[in-house]
Amino acid sequence: MKLPDRNLLPDGEWVPALSGETFTTTNPATETPSGTLAKAGEADVDRAAKAARKAFDEGPWPKMAPAERARILWRAAQKMRERAEDLAKCEALDMGKPVSEGKAIDVPFTADLFEYYAGWATKVHGETLPGIPGFFVHTLREPVGVVGMITPWNFPMLLLSWKLAPALAVGCTCVVKPASLTPHSALLLAEILVEAGVPKGAINVVTGPGGAVGNALVRHPAVDKIAFTGETRTGQGILREAAATMKRVTMELGGKSPNIVFADADLDAATKGAIAGVFYNKGEVCAAGSRILVEEKVVNDFVEMLKARAGKMSHGDPLDPKTRLGPQASKAQLDTVLKYVARGREDGARLVCGGRHVPINGKGYFVEPTIFDRVTNGMTIAREEIFGPVASVIPFKDEAEALRIANDSEFGLASGVWTRDVGRAHRMARGLKAGTVWVNTYNVYDPAAPFGGCKRSGFGRELGSAALEHYTEMKSVIQSLQ
Ligand code: NAD
Repeated sequence: MKLPDRNLLPDGEWVPALSGETFTTTNPATETPSGTLAKAGEADVDRAAKAARKAFDEGPWPKMAPAERARILWRAAQKMRERAEDLAKCEALDMGKPVSEGKAIDVPFTADLFEYYAGWATKVHGETLPGIPGFFVHTLREPVGVVGMITPWNFPMLLLSWKLAPALAVGCTCVVKPASLTPHSALLLAEILVEAGVPKGAINVVTGPGGAVGNALVRHPAVDKIAFTGETRTGQGILREAAATMKRVTMELGGKSPNIVFADADLDAATKGAIAGVFYNKGEVCAAGSRILVEEKVVNDFVEMLKARAGKMSHGDPLDPKTRLGPQASKAQLDTVLKYVARGREDGARLVCGGRHVPINGKGYFVEPTIFDRVTNGMTIAREEIFGPVASVIPFKDEAEALRIANDSEFGLASGVWTRDVGRAHRMARGLKAGTVWVNTYNVYDPAAPFGGCKRSGFGRELGSAALEHYTEMKSVIQSLQ
């Protein structure tokens, strides 16, 4: 099965790349082509960025009544729900996400986000300040301008909507650059937004390689801000490039998140949470709880419980509604995961289960859910982001040691704590250096709860009212009363 051929969307028109070049995507379950798309180059980025600039400076979107913008976003959310099957198929064929999961989680959450930010469109405002005598002082909160959105391949639709929904709600215009592995859902989202009434030029999409298309977007003088999600190293390069035009940037980067299980926890619930925390989306999750820290006195029992549960997980065709676990998104990702499995063994960790490439009928980048125990926090598998279904179990003695190990990472994206001790839950939540702490749960997201990282996991927050700060600027107005 193939997805429809796709063109670029600059300035409200679906057009081929100026060079006429195309590229193909690959279905990671079958290793066959999943789609053909226009391959943008610098000239296409220029066209899209200028269209977004014109739409911001002269077009109706930023000036439209906020309630009207809200209605358009709300309408788009409804259309997303109606086209859930099509959106979920894009993710299944591009990156191996089971269609059942896309329909049950990614599409509804994407639509929820547009509804959530539609609500904010009418509530973003400045303030009247006490002011110095003789003056009327107030602030205006205005859209930041043209936003370049560069997104990764692991949650192509969701992570784009984390940017698109707040940016559009406040009146920004956008140029979207989805990951080359997974561009289809971004194009379909854009199609839906245009159908719902987002005007010409307010949303533009360019598909093509990051080094060329992404970089051109970062350098383009018509773009005011870059909202980036991806690898830390790519983010570092973008920061350097963005300096030349003094762009605002938000960075959602990698992670190596600790999921900490104390002996007093509900261990059944913690097992479920730890398994879902690391194997959900085949481990291709920035917030994956890939370091499972377990209190020493229960570690052996807990590893057995993890192993039993991991053994029940089986792979299948992402298009089959019964499938819960798909393939890794690409051959490169498969190779990376297998390389880390080998490294874990060389470094002396014990392979409890998994670790093999398990193609179906000889095809597909499927990897068994993999658990290592006897891992120390200094091992490569505990320090580097694997971005695959590989869990490292690390024992600890007490709360202080758990916190020390958890925070001993160059990343600081997310974390989990499993305990029945309320005081300990609060102490850990305060002590953990991460943008999110889940207590007795993992991987739960709320459109209203800000998400983002510290340390090398980046800066800035998406979701919630916090995201609106990054898509608006404050202007002070100081007026003489004379
Ligand atoms: P990546 O950095 O390789 O690519 C991300 C995007 O950047 C893609 O669209 C890519 O084409 C583009 N790009 C690549 N080189 C570029 C350049 N020189 N200039 C501009 N753009 C460029 O990341 P990925 O492999 O697609 O995604 C996986 C990474 O994303 C992981 O590290 C993961 O942790 C991270 N991630 C973070 C979050 C978060 O919210 N913090 C969420 C999901 C994924």
